[in-house]
Amino acid sequence: MSRFWSPAIQSLVPYTPGEQPKVDGLIKLNTNENPYPPAPAVEAVLRHFDSERLRLYPDPDCQALKQALADDAGLARNQVFVGNGSDEVLALTFMALLRQPKPLLLPETSYSFYNVYIDLFGIDARHIPLTEDFRIDLDDYCGENGGIIFANPNAPTSISVDLAALKTLLERNTDSVVVVDEAYVDFGAASATRLVEQYPNLLVIQTFSKSRSLAGMRVGFAFGHPDLIEALERVKNSFNSYPLDMLAQQTAIAAIEDKEYFTACINRVIETRSWTTEQLQKLGFEVLPSHTNFVFTSHPQVPAAELMQYLRDNKILVRHFTKPGIDNHLRITIGTTEEMEALISCLQAHPAL
Ligand code: PMP
Repeated sequence: MSRFWSPAIQSLVPYTPGEQPKVDGLIKLNTNENPYPPAPAVEAVLRHFDSERLRLYPDPDCQALKQALADDAGLARNQVFVGNGSDEVLALTFMALLRQPKPLLLPETSYSFYNVYIDLFGIDARHIPLTEDFRIDLDDYCGENGGIIFANPNAPTSISVDLAALKTLLERNTDSVVVVDEAYVDFGAASATRLVEQYPNLLVIQTFSKSRSLAGMRVGFAFGHPDLIEALERVKNSFNSYPLDMLAQQTAIAAIEDKEYFTACINRVIETRSWTTEQLQKLGFEVLPSHTNFVFTSHPQVPAAELMQYLRDNKILVRHFTKPGIDNHLRITIGTTEEMEALISCLQAHPAL
């Protein structure tokens, strides 16, 4: 604490991402990374990269990457924005579009980073509870507002909303921006990407960190009407006119182009998710219906905090949130088949299961 800190900084609780411990033999199922390596095309870019080129600045407009994303989504380049991970895209979105006189609507339980931005930028926010079965009911998002944001599928609950409900929301809120954070959408949910043609108030944010196995490269992006994209570009240029480094731009393009690998990798994660869900259910766990690369689960007899510690003692890391309402659940990332088999065997050996 310092007398030089602004009031916003004094009360700020910084976001703490999941642990990245360096322990040999640890099975890491706590931060929703992809268990499989990036596409072979990404490896080829890295292997053949000529380091001499690093003396040059990267393309500040990320034109080739934006074009590749636009082509992949069937949109135009001026409907695409890129940033250092979707966390940066979200930060710029809060700064550029969600600091409004009317309150921002968001789920009570969602990606906790939203609240860091809300506090940092002093945004008036109304948190809307999930339903009893942990769903986002978009009908609850009504009344005067200066914007709406939620993750779809939601995190850490893993459940998705359907596009019909989203369309109704967009039509009911034509005067505010609706931001849909689709960090996990590729694992089986319906993406709202194509709706940006129809709805100028929709901004869709995605990432290369999950389905493209590039969390270490920090590449995120947004699709939206050119006016929304321009707002993000204006704020971005005020801070850092080079949003992505050269390697991040090139590896991201390679990842988009390798469509076969992408699909195969997603399908493997989805298959492993089904298997894991079945096994957990056999052990008496309740598992929410997941469209993500993780499951959100609880056991009626054994408290989640105890299970988390038990797994940790056995070198398996999963995520437990202390937030009331979700504090008896575990969020378990879908790893490789072997990792999930080890998780299930470990749980089977628990004396109370
Ligand atoms: N949105 C959600 C819902 C997330 O869970 C995450 C990952 N923690 C992010 C955005 C940010 O991902 P990244 O910055 O790696 O793109």
